[in-house]
Amino acid sequence: MSSLPPPIPVPTLAYATPGMTLDSGGPWRDGRRLRTTRTCTLPPNCVKCGQHATKFLTKAFYWHSPWLYLLILPGILVYAIVALVLRKQAYLTYGLCAQHNSTRLKKVGVTWLAFLIGIGALVGGIALANRAAGREWEDMGTLVVILSFVIMLAAAIYGAVGVPALRAKRIDDRYAWYNGAGDEFLQQFPLP
Ligand SMILES: [Zn+2]
Repeated sequence: MSSLPPPIPVPTLAYATPGMTLDSGGPWRDGRRLRTTRTCTLPPNCVKCGQHATKFLTKAFYWHSPWLYLLILPGILVYAIVALVLRKQAYLTYGLCAQHNSTRLKKVGVTWLAFLIGIGALVGGIALANRAAGREWEDMGTLVVILSFVIMLAAAIYGAVGVPALRAKRIDDRYAWYNGAGDEFLQQFPLP
């Protein structure tokens, strides 16, 4: 006579809930700044106005001590190497509403337009310098080339600083602080 096999016990899964990691907690509102762990996914509201977000971005943010900028004086290359080694990184996923995403896209468009004008000025400047060789207005080409680099540098700085909705104000070993979030968005978070 056969009997039914004993029921297979259902294993209890020992999975970690999101709140159980070492860097748990947050985000917080720290004055007018947003403070999060170094990797964080924000709630699905626009970080600018707190409305329902329709666009989500995941971005790496970098920060280093402002003192490092002093290294630009001995040389931009020295600064670039040291900053690359010492900078701290944080990842943030955040949302934007349709209106604030449209503002972001316009700024991206302005950045690219400025960059293309810079490239045009570079090509034009080189052509001008070649044609003007040995003539009175020889320096004009050089001037336009220098101007083109200024335009491209300005576009790059604007693209890095002016376009993103948030800017990293500070990053340490565990947390990141961001400027740029709206009060309506920050209100939902506790103080640290
Ligand atoms: Zn918004």
